[in-house]
Amino acid sequence: MARHNFSAKVKRQARERSGGRCEAIGAVYGLRPGQRCNASLDGKRVEIDHYPIPATDEGSDVLDNAVACCVACHRFKTSGYDVPMQAKGKRLADRHNGMRKPSQFKSAGFPKAQPQRSASRPIQRRSDI
Ligand SMILES: [Zn+2]
Repeated sequence: MARHNFSAKVKRQARERSGGRCEAIGAVYGLRPGQRCNASLDGKRVEIDHYPIPATDEGSDVLDNAVACCVACHRFKTSGYDVPMQAKGKRLADRHNGMRKPSQFKSAGFPKAQPQRSASRPIQRRSDI
């Protein structure tokens, strides 16, 4: 699947916007909801992450979807968020490919009823009870 990578311009803008601090916020980066990482990015490798739109989606390569984050945050999200999402897609695909033919589905059927001793029993009416 094609990834929509950020242009050099968007990456630079994201880095400038970050103020040299990791922009990652919230649980997907292993932080508390609403908490920003703020790790110093000075002299460090800066990852530009796609969030909230996944890199595989059209329109994800815009500044609004760019998160300048530290390696630790990026790694956390990649392993804890992106990969499971992709794995889920793969599992669904596998299930689809491995779909069994309808003839292979065999119902256990209904349990056999006990043979009736008499052909019929009188119907009990509510008024008889
Ligand atoms: Zn961070």
